Amino acid sequence: MGAETVLTAVASEVRACTRCPLHRGRTQAVPGEGNPISDVLLVGEGPGAREDATGRPFVGPAGQLLNELLGTLGWAREDVFIANVVKCRPPGNRDPEPEEISACSGYLDRQESALDPAVIVTLGRHSLQRYLPGARISSVHGQLHRSGSRFIFPMYHPAAALHQASLRETLFADIRGLPAALLAARQAFEAERAASVQETTPEPEPELVPSPDDQQMTLFQEPR
Ligand code: URA
Ligand code: SF4
Repeated sequence: MGAETVLTAVASEVRACTRCPLHRGRTQAVPGEGNPISDVLLVGEGPGAREDATGRPFVGPAGQLLNELLGTLGWAREDVFIANVVKCRPPGNRDPEPEEISACSGYLDRQESALDPAVIVTLGRHSLQRYLPGARISSVHGQLHRSGSRFIFPMYHPAAALHQASLRETLFADIRGLPAALLAARQAFEAERAASVQETTPEPEPELVPSPDDQQMTLFQEPR
Protein backbone atom coordinates (compact mmCIF):
# COMPACT_ATOMS: atom_id res chain seq x y z
CA MET A 1 0.00 0.00 0.00
CA GLY A 2 1.29 3.48 -0.85
CA ALA A 3 1.94 6.05 1.86
CA GLU A 4 -0.99 8.21 0.84
CA THR A 5 -3.44 5.30 1.12
CA VAL A 6 -2.18 4.40 4.59
CA LEU A 7 -2.25 8.03 5.76
CA THR A 8 -5.82 8.48 4.51
CA ALA A 9 -6.93 5.29 6.24
CA VAL A 10 -5.27 6.35 9.51
CA ALA A 11 -6.95 9.78 9.27
CA SER A 12 -10.43 8.28 8.90
CA GLU A 13 -9.85 5.93 11.82
CA VAL A 14 -8.62 8.81 13.98
CA ARG A 15 -11.68 10.92 13.18
CA ALA A 16 -13.93 8.14 14.48
CA CYS A 17 -11.68 7.00 17.34
CA THR A 18 -12.96 6.48 20.88
CA ARG A 19 -9.92 4.62 22.28
CA CYS A 20 -9.27 7.14 25.06
CA PRO A 21 -11.30 9.68 27.10
CA LEU A 22 -10.00 12.60 25.01
CA HIS A 23 -12.60 11.80 22.36
CA ARG A 24 -15.35 13.08 24.67
CA GLY A 25 -14.16 16.68 24.77
CA ARG A 26 -13.11 17.06 21.17
CA THR A 27 -14.86 19.05 18.46
CA GLN A 28 -12.74 17.43 15.76
CA ALA A 29 -9.86 15.00 15.94
CA VAL A 30 -6.64 16.22 14.29
CA PRO A 31 -5.00 13.31 12.44
CA GLY A 32 -2.18 15.36 10.87
CA GLU A 33 -1.51 16.53 7.33
CA GLY A 34 1.14 17.24 4.78
CA ASN A 35 3.05 15.75 1.93
CA PRO A 36 2.94 11.92 1.85
CA ILE A 37 6.36 11.73 0.19
CA SER A 38 8.08 14.19 2.50
CA ASP A 39 11.34 13.10 4.09
CA VAL A 40 10.58 15.25 7.15
CA LEU A 41 7.95 14.45 9.79
CA LEU A 42 7.22 17.04 12.49
CA VAL A 43 5.61 15.72 15.67
CA GLY A 44 3.95 18.09 18.14
CA GLU A 45 2.14 17.38 21.35
CA GLY A 46 -1.61 17.64 20.79
CA PRO A 47 -4.27 19.90 19.28
CA GLY A 48 -5.06 23.26 20.88
CA ALA A 49 -8.29 25.26 20.58
CA ARG A 50 -7.92 26.26 16.94
CA GLU A 51 -6.75 22.83 15.88
CA ASP A 52 -9.74 21.26 17.65
CA ALA A 53 -12.09 23.69 15.89
CA THR A 54 -10.61 23.10 12.41
CA GLY A 55 -9.35 19.51 12.52
CA ARG A 56 -5.91 20.67 11.29
CA PRO A 57 -2.55 20.63 13.12
CA PHE A 58 -0.62 23.80 14.06
CA VAL A 59 -3.07 26.40 12.74
CA GLY A 60 -3.15 28.59 15.89
CA PRO A 61 -0.49 30.99 17.21
CA ALA A 62 2.11 28.21 17.61
CA GLY A 63 1.37 27.20 14.04
CA GLN A 64 2.03 30.75 12.83
CA LEU A 65 5.46 30.60 14.37
CA LEU A 66 6.07 27.14 12.91
CA ASN A 67 5.20 28.49 9.44
CA GLU A 68 7.69 31.32 9.96
CA LEU A 69 10.38 28.88 11.08
CA LEU A 70 9.90 26.67 8.02
CA GLY A 71 9.79 29.79 5.87
CA THR A 72 13.34 30.75 6.86
CA LEU A 73 14.48 27.55 5.11
CA GLY A 74 12.34 28.27 2.06
CA TRP A 75 10.07 25.41 3.11
CA ALA A 76 6.27 25.49 3.38
CA ARG A 77 4.12 23.39 5.68
CA GLU A 78 2.80 21.58 2.59
CA ASP A 79 6.34 20.29 2.01
CA VAL A 80 6.55 18.41 5.30
CA PHE A 81 4.17 16.19 7.25
CA ILE A 82 2.85 17.52 10.56
CA ALA A 83 1.33 15.27 13.23
CA ASN A 84 0.88 15.11 16.99
CA VAL A 85 1.44 12.60 19.78
CA VAL A 86 -2.27 12.76 20.69
CA LYS A 87 -4.83 13.50 18.03
CA CYS A 88 -7.59 14.95 20.25
CA ARG A 89 -7.37 18.11 22.34
CA PRO A 90 -6.66 17.64 26.05
CA PRO A 91 -9.20 19.77 27.98
CA GLY A 92 -7.87 23.28 28.69
CA ASN A 93 -4.64 22.32 26.86
CA ARG A 94 -3.43 20.24 29.81
CA ASP A 95 -0.60 17.77 29.23
CA PRO A 96 -1.71 14.47 27.72
CA GLU A 97 -1.80 11.59 30.26
CA PRO A 98 0.49 8.59 29.70
CA GLU A 99 -2.57 6.37 29.10
CA GLU A 100 -3.83 8.76 26.42
CA ILE A 101 -0.43 8.86 24.74
CA SER A 102 -0.21 5.09 24.69
CA ALA A 103 -3.82 4.66 23.48
CA CYS A 104 -3.01 6.98 20.57
CA SER A 105 0.52 5.82 19.73
CA GLY A 106 -0.51 3.20 17.16
CA TYR A 107 -1.74 5.94 14.83
CA LEU A 108 1.57 7.80 14.93
CA ASP A 109 3.41 4.47 14.52
CA ARG A 110 1.51 3.86 11.31
CA GLN A 111 1.98 7.42 10.03
CA GLU A 112 5.67 7.08 10.72
CA SER A 113 6.11 3.79 8.91
CA ALA A 114 4.03 4.98 5.94
CA LEU A 115 6.12 8.15 5.56
CA ASP A 116 9.43 6.50 6.46
CA PRO A 117 10.99 9.96 6.93
CA ALA A 118 14.75 10.53 6.97
CA VAL A 119 14.29 12.91 9.93
CA ILE A 120 11.65 13.27 12.63
CA VAL A 121 11.53 16.74 14.19
CA THR A 122 10.15 16.59 17.71
CA LEU A 123 8.39 19.71 18.96
CA GLY A 124 8.30 19.81 22.73
CA ARG A 125 8.66 17.39 25.60
CA HIS A 126 6.06 14.71 24.92
CA SER A 127 7.19 14.19 21.39
CA LEU A 128 10.84 14.09 22.52
CA GLN A 129 10.01 11.47 25.18
CA ARG A 130 8.51 9.18 22.57
CA TYR A 131 11.78 8.97 20.63
CA LEU A 132 14.51 9.77 23.15
CA PRO A 133 13.13 8.76 26.54
CA GLY A 134 14.81 10.56 29.40
CA ALA A 135 16.52 13.12 27.14
CA ARG A 136 16.56 16.73 28.31
CA ILE A 137 15.48 19.22 25.68
CA SER A 138 18.01 21.77 26.95
CA SER A 139 20.89 19.45 26.06
CA VAL A 140 19.61 17.76 22.88
CA HIS A 141 17.83 20.53 20.96
CA GLY A 142 19.04 21.50 17.52
CA GLN A 143 21.17 18.39 16.99
CA LEU A 144 20.63 15.16 15.11
CA HIS A 145 20.20 12.06 17.29
CA ARG A 146 19.74 8.40 16.45
CA SER A 147 16.85 6.46 17.97
CA GLY A 148 16.78 2.87 16.71
CA SER A 149 16.22 3.06 12.96
CA ARG A 150 15.23 6.75 13.10
CA PHE A 151 17.01 10.09 13.10
CA ILE A 152 15.54 12.64 15.51
CA PHE A 153 16.02 16.40 15.44
CA PRO A 154 14.60 17.76 18.73
CA MET A 155 13.31 21.31 18.97
CA TYR A 156 11.57 23.33 21.63
CA HIS A 157 7.82 23.60 21.22
CA PRO A 158 6.91 26.79 19.29
CA ALA A 159 4.17 27.52 21.87
CA ALA A 160 6.86 27.81 24.57
CA ALA A 161 8.53 30.58 22.59
CA LEU A 162 5.30 32.58 22.58
CA HIS A 163 5.77 33.03 26.33
CA GLN A 164 9.55 33.12 26.51
CA ALA A 165 11.27 35.45 24.06
CA SER A 166 14.72 33.87 24.39
CA LEU A 167 13.35 30.54 23.12
CA ARG A 168 12.26 32.24 19.94
CA GLU A 169 15.88 32.94 19.06
CA THR A 170 16.83 29.39 19.97
CA LEU A 171 14.13 28.01 17.65
CA PHE A 172 15.31 30.14 14.74
CA ALA A 173 18.92 29.18 15.41
CA ASP A 174 18.07 25.48 15.68
CA ILE A 175 15.99 25.23 12.53
CA ARG A 176 18.89 26.58 10.50
CA GLY A 177 20.63 23.28 11.22
CA LEU A 178 17.78 21.15 9.89
CA PRO A 179 18.75 20.99 6.20
CA ALA A 180 22.27 19.80 7.09
CA ALA A 181 20.78 17.28 9.54
CA LEU A 182 18.50 15.99 6.78
CA LEU A 183 21.46 15.53 4.45
CA ALA A 184 23.47 13.78 7.15
CA ALA A 185 20.58 11.41 7.87
CA ARG A 186 20.10 10.61 4.18
CA GLN A 187 23.80 9.96 3.77
CA ALA A 188 23.83 7.66 6.80
CA PHE A 189 20.87 5.66 5.45
CA GLU A 190 22.50 5.51 2.03
CA ALA A 191 25.77 4.28 3.55
CA GLU A 192 23.94 1.63 5.57
CA ARG A 193 22.06 0.47 2.53
CA ALA A 194 25.25 0.34 0.47
CA ALA A 195 26.99 -1.63 3.21
CA SER A 196 24.16 -4.14 3.36
CA VAL A 197 24.29 -4.87 -0.38
CA GLN A 198 28.07 -4.54 -0.77
CA GLU A 199 28.70 -8.26 -1.02
CA THR A 200 26.34 -8.82 -3.91
CA THR A 201 26.59 -5.65 -5.99
CA PRO A 202 29.45 -3.44 -7.21
CA GLU A 203 30.21 -0.06 -5.60
CA PRO A 204 27.80 2.65 -6.76
CA GLU A 205 29.27 5.72 -8.44
CA PRO A 206 29.77 8.50 -5.86
CA GLU A 207 27.01 11.10 -6.13
CA LEU A 208 27.33 14.84 -5.90
CA VAL A 209 25.87 15.99 -2.62
CA PRO A 210 24.09 19.37 -2.58
CA SER A 211 25.29 21.94 -0.08
CA PRO A 212 23.14 22.28 3.05
CA ASP A 213 22.76 25.95 2.16
CA ASP A 214 21.20 25.08 -1.16
CA GLN A 215 17.63 26.33 -0.76
CA GLN A 216 16.63 24.26 -3.79
CA MET A 217 17.38 21.05 -1.93
CA THR A 218 14.49 18.68 -2.37
CA LEU A 219 12.48 17.60 0.62
CA PHE A 220 11.06 14.63 -1.13
CA GLN A 221 12.10 11.05 -1.27
CA GLU A 222 13.57 9.17 -4.17
CA PRO A 223 11.57 5.97 -4.51
CA ARG A 224 13.33 3.44 -2.26
N1 URA B 1 0.48 22.49 19.62
C1 URA B 1 0.73 21.21 19.29
O1 URA B 1 1.49 20.52 19.94
N2 URA B 1 0.12 20.69 18.24
C2 URA B 1 -0.73 21.39 17.46
O2 URA B 1 -1.25 20.84 16.50
C3 URA B 1 -0.97 22.74 17.82
C4 URA B 1 -0.36 23.26 18.90
FE1 SF4 C 1 -8.35 8.10 19.84
FE2 SF4 C 1 -6.01 9.35 20.04
FE3 SF4 C 1 -8.27 10.75 20.10
FE4 SF4 C 1 -7.61 9.20 22.18
S1 SF4 C 1 -6.49 11.02 21.44
S2 SF4 C 1 -9.64 9.33 21.21
S3 SF4 C 1 -6.63 7.49 21.13
S4 SF4 C 1 -7.50 9.57 18.36
